Amino acid sequence: MPLKVTFFQAGYCTHPEAIVVQDGRWKTTNFPSLFALISHPQIGAILFDTGYSDRFFQETSSFPFRLYAFTTPVYFQPEDSAVYQLQKAGIEPEAVKYIIISHFHADHIGGLKDFPNAQFICFNSAYQAVKYRRGINALKAGFLSGLLPSDFEQRVIFVEDKQTVSLLPKYAPFTTGFDLLGDGSLIAVELPGHATGQLGLFFIDADHHNYFLIADACWLSRAYQEFIKPHPITNLIFANKQEYVDTLSKIHQLHKLNPELKIIPTHCLKTWQELEKNYL
Ligand SMILES: [Zn+2]
Repeated sequence: MPLKVTFFQAGYCTHPEAIVVQDGRWKTTNFPSLFALISHPQIGAILFDTGYSDRFFQETSSFPFRLYAFTTPVYFQPEDSAVYQLQKAGIEPEAVKYIIISHFHADHIGGLKDFPNAQFICFNSAYQAVKYRRGINALKAGFLSGLLPSDFEQRVIFVEDKQTVSLLPKYAPFTTGFDLLGDGSLIAVELPGHATGQLGLFFIDADHHNYFLIADACWLSRAYQEFIKPHPITNLIFANKQEYVDTLSKIHQLHKLNPELKIIPTHCLKTWQELEKNYL
């Protein structure tokens, strides 16, 4: 399937590097929030996440959510939004058909409300894990309910309802996935740990590049390349720390077996700089 993929950055936050990789420095580092535009020859524009939007600031203006903005200071200008950048690239917000949601952290779903015709694709388990959370419980899950469109439930499609498929041996140790569009072009797998039901996406583009979008299964490419765990403090925000390590280990093995595969974490500055250089 001749898919075309373009990556964008929609805002970034800052954090000490030592939080995200145990051997990192305590120096503050920038963590871009990427999203991907996947152009499908029949369906049209599909997004993988959306990055931040200025709604993040409104939704974190009062307690307890102010703590969210305090712990991860966010840098975002209106022209960084997915909707603005896509429009500049000639894609009207109404033209976006699907938004694949990796998980429900605010830096991934910030722009959902800007795409009125999009259907959302996510794991039901991911949605159920945040659906009823409010106040401090929502904060603990990094979830700002005001970022979801009010008709979200009418527009969502759950991955669990899609056909399961066997993956090619080159994707081991991942063996099965979900065929999101029914044509084999976009295959979702579960990457649990960082968040319940986190979604990873395999696809091959028109130039035969193999991609694996891994969202926040790790923050830096070095973490999956060398299998470096994050600082134990991150266990506070993980849905399941053992699953996080298991998922990271699987991605590390996959990378060792298949070094050609382009593994894309959402927040890795180095990965973003390489993508900018090669594809934009
Ligand atoms: Zn996250």
